Amino acid sequence: MHYTSTRNSNIRISAAEAVINGISPDGGLYLPCEIPQAGLDFIENLVNAGYNERALKILELFLEDFTACDGDTRLDELAGYIEGAYGGGKFDSPDIAPVVNLYGSVHMLELWHGPTSAFKDMALQLLPYLMTGSSRKTGNGSEIVILVATSGDTGKAALEGFADVPDTKIIVFYPNNGVSRMQKLQMTTQEGGNVGVIAINGNFDDAQNGVKAIFTDEKINALLNENKMAFSSANSINWGRLVPQIVYYFSAYCDLVKKEAIKLGDKINFTVPTGNFGNILAAYYAKEMGLPVNRLICASNANNVLTEFFDTGFYNRKRDFYTTVSPSMDILISSNLERLLYELSDRDDGYIRDIFASLAEKGEYTVNEKVLNGMKNMFSGGFCDDRATEAAIRETFEKYNYLCDTHTAVGVRVYEEYRKKTGDAAPCVIASTANPYKFPESVLRAVKRADPESYDEFGMASELEGLTKIKAPEQLTGLKNKNERFNITCEKDSMNKELLKILGL
Ligand SMILES: *Cc1c(COP(=O)(O)O)cnc(C)c1O
Repeated sequence: MHYTSTRNSNIRISAAEAVINGISPDGGLYLPCEIPQAGLDFIENLVNAGYNERALKILELFLEDFTACDGDTRLDELAGYIEGAYGGGKFDSPDIAPVVNLYGSVHMLELWHGPTSAFKDMALQLLPYLMTGSSRKTGNGSEIVILVATSGDTGKAALEGFADVPDTKIIVFYPNNGVSRMQKLQMTTQEGGNVGVIAINGNFDDAQNGVKAIFTDEKINALLNENKMAFSSANSINWGRLVPQIVYYFSAYCDLVKKEAIKLGDKINFTVPTGNFGNILAAYYAKEMGLPVNRLICASNANNVLTEFFDTGFYNRKRDFYTTVSPSMDILISSNLERLLYELSDRDDGYIRDIFASLAEKGEYTVNEKVLNGMKNMFSGGFCDDRATEAAIRETFEKYNYLCDTHTAVGVRVYEEYRKKTGDAAPCVIASTANPYKFPESVLRAVKRADPESYDEFGMASELEGLTKIKAPEQLTGLKNKNERFNITCEKDSMNKELLKILGL
């Protein structure tokens, strides 16, 4: 299996190269030259398997260079990575990504049982193994410098995944006023000798643009090269982030078959609260591989650029940016959308170059009829504001005794509106993307219908525990007793200088 670039279809590289490079030199994103097929027979064989076995069977379809060639030893390599990522009690559920019934035919896929309480762990626990393994295969022996722009959850999950991994360094940039207090503390207290955390005066898009600019800066790259270092990306544009996410869509389907909530072959819907379009794109790939999926419902917050796009085919980032109670979805440039458009344009790299040139120059583009029809056949978009988000948290708790975080609540709300509007009552799985205690202030205010009594996150968390009888994870409450190690803030145009300082260059 080879990988190519959305902006140059002539590229042919291995999975290991795609993981280590992160982004193609032409600015495009890597994806497999062909989408492997995994039909009903394949799924049937996974129904009674555990998560790790499901992961192995799916990942080996994409990561041939970690499995094929000289037989069993390579397969052991990938199996070992999976065990390292999801084994050893790092997840607080034996199912890793359990499916919980909300009501009737609606289910929650809980993706936050990992060490940082957000779905980013599903990929970022595995990525360090894939990346150091890829580095050995591509063999230039450089130290890997991981740069991350985060809207809150990726940063911590990447820090946790890469902390003290030999031959790597990791530096995270986050928007100073764009993450929750709990998210910030998770990052600034991170332990490990190879980690750095920097706040920027700007929003997530500024952080992401700054990181992209550093990646392609020739001078900085040359400087790293001289010092036997090389950049890589742990952002959701890295294929190594995307591929582990495909696994849990298959896993959720298998669980529903196992529980006899559906029959093998029945089509289901997925609703995914969306920011950078990584999580829902993994659902798209699962569908293209053969998972019986009817519709993918893309849920946005007040930053509803994707809702308009799925309705009209017009992508317009020139709009007000809102800081919301679901900060990990406060994004106006959804990077992974590029992969979908490449697929739906029948892999027309020239077309992708054109529309992304238009996005860069004019802040907008409109897709052609073929792409728009492809989108409409598969996706529905919807959004809700902060008030509706908090109402969804409250109602979901009062009706079903299920406590959602703010991002998941956007998914619940948008799904309910979709169902009302369309009458589509097919079984639906809603991605539950973070533990509610990552956002104790908003969740508490929603459930309590009043302002919190306490002024700090930990007081709010214990108020929320008292009210709901649902326990906060220790990895969050324990932050109270940790030292803040990082307090650097920089302007968005001096990210490069801060980075070089941290690297000692
Ligand atoms: C990152 C994140 C999202 C958005 O996921 P994308 O892959 O960027 O679309 C949603 N919810 C939570 C809690 C997140 O951390």
